[in-house]
Amino acid sequence: MLLTRPFSSTDETLQSFLIRLARANHYTFEAWSRHLADQGIPYRTRNQESRKKLVEYIDGILGRNETSELFDQWAFYTDLKLGFDFARIKICPHCFKESKGKLHPKWSFRFNLTCPVHGCLLVDTCSCCGTAINEQAVHSHKCTECGTPLITSESTIAEPDSFSGQIHELDSTKLISDERNRTALINLLTAQFNTIEALSNYVYEGDQAKWRKKRAYSLAQRYQHQIAVSQALSSQSATNDAVAQYAGEVISDGETDIAKLFRYSRKAIKNQFPQMLIKAIKTYVENFDDDNGITVGLRWLSDLYGIDDDSLFKFVVLNHEALQTRKGVIRLLDAGHVIDGYLKSR
Ligand SMILES: [Zn+2]
Ligand SMILES: [Zn+2]
Repeated sequence: MLLTRPFSSTDETLQSFLIRLARANHYTFEAWSRHLADQGIPYRTRNQESRKKLVEYIDGILGRNETSELFDQWAFYTDLKLGFDFARIKICPHCFKESKGKLHPKWSFRFNLTCPVHGCLLVDTCSCCGTAINEQAVHSHKCTECGTPLITSESTIAEPDSFSGQIHELDSTKLISDERNRTALINLLTAQFNTIEALSNYVYEGDQAKWRKKRAYSLAQRYQHQIAVSQALSSQSATNDAVAQYAGEVISDGETDIAKLFRYSRKAIKNQFPQMLIKAIKTYVENFDDDNGITVGLRWLSDLYGIDDDSLFKFVVLNHEALQTRKGVIRLLDAGHVIDGYLKSR
């Protein structure tokens, strides 16, 4: 039974409060996890019903109704797995110190990588030995491997990238208050994920691993990547430049099919990727003036322009039969002219 019953704070997550409850009552984190699991409400349960029971259980122990007011990223697991960091815990060491060991709700958002209060990058590993910060470390306020206190973690000065900035602007008190906020939050985080995924192909840095290996990215690398995506989205011409540079590199690597070159973009178009990116790809296609054998499928073109592929096929057969290098494929060099003619014929 818990003898010490600290008050929760709306500036912390349910995860944070559960860890603090254990600490205040001299439970090890493992013993506390076992205790909750024995009640049929494991700390990490992804089942929404048992998360509710977990909250009710804690409120019952406390004799107060306050746990349900806490932000719980695990309550989003089924709807929005991609919007939160479940596997790693990020903290601002300065905020962590000032709050005496609380985890702020916004640190759990995957694309929030900075602290606006202290102007620094969040940290998710021990700055001494590199071990990931986990619940045990938060519980003991120390690295689980080398014992370095979390509050002495080195933090790098960093301006928020635009994705972190969007999270900072959210009203903390409204993160969980009702269904409408929940929907708005899910929409925002989905858009962030789609945008970063869509732009990622166009912002590779020379020394960066391919974004597909992003799981291996450190927090600092993720930040650099989000900065690059933010910059590519800062204006239409910046997006155009990123697309043109990427395309130039892939072509010089030997790719000859534009649909393969922009293979993520077709999916992107159907998944509501950013309009600036779609526009940049159109600009690239329309202004392509190199006779270097690059081809484009009519189906891919109709996807890009959101037009009916059968009618584009018919238009090409009727008016530009000779331009087809094989059935349904034309040179990229001719694409701007063909699309222009098609759109004018409508
Ligand atoms: Zn801070
Ligand atoms: Zn360490």
